[in-house]
Amino acid sequence: MSEIRNFRAGEMAVATDAAPRLSEAFHSLDRERKRRTIAAVAERIVAHADELTALDAAIGDGDHGYNMKRGVEAVLQDLDALSAMGLPDLLKTVGMKLVTKVGGASGPLYGTLFLALGKELPAEPSRAQFVAGFEAAIAAVRARGKSDAGQKTMLDVLIPAQRAFAAGGDAGVVKKAALAAAEATAPMRATRGRASFLGERSVGHVDPGARSSSLMIAALCDEFGAG
Ligand code: ADP
Ligand code: MG
Repeated sequence: MSEIRNFRAGEMAVATDAAPRLSEAFHSLDRERKRRTIAAVAERIVAHADELTALDAAIGDGDHGYNMKRGVEAVLQDLDALSAMGLPDLLKTVGMKLVTKVGGASGPLYGTLFLALGKELPAEPSRAQFVAGFEAAIAAVRARGKSDAGQKTMLDVLIPAQRAFAAGGDAGVVKKAALAAAEATAPMRATRGRASFLGERSVGHVDPGARSSSLMIAALCDEFGAG
């Protein structure tokens, strides 16, 4: 009898501990889960700051890792307040922090992405609402950057990741799409941003903003069930 009870208790524990599937991820984001998700994304950037700076040193001015680290550290400082907010305010507040702290070209662009997500998404978005909100936020980045896919920027990760998600991909699929898309910027010639000043010499290097986008998406997907 007690064995059965223990078995049942074990089952319950497994069910509660398991990461929610990406399709369910945006429902019932409680405070603790928000805190963990924000921290995971921010810490992924901190862990890769030197790599991002090295990528930017090759085809830019070598500040992208430093810029992003400064931005996410400001986010981490406000973790308590952020995780107590509803999703729209949380995203808008993160966006404002990125605009003011990251600087460079990427600060306003990431700021626009998060501000637009905050504007588009309801407090508990369904999968379909998240797909649509992510698409609208990418459109806002394109408008702000006067840029589009194929120009060797963060959009070359954001767009394919959104498409993989829109096509029904789970967290593992979206993560793989984002990481592969960042790698796929290496053979591209930059036609937007500082790297475009290098022309042909930008070929052969991964775009730093594409890589930072892939890192944030990968961390988010890991939180929501990617292996
Ligand atoms: P800066 O180039 O001002 O030093 P960062 O180094 O922080 O800014 O960010 C560079 C990244 O910003 C690039 O790798 C690229 O992905 C992204 N980026 C730059 N300009 C644009 C743009 N017009 N549209 C989209 N992304 C852009
Ligand atoms: Mg730079």
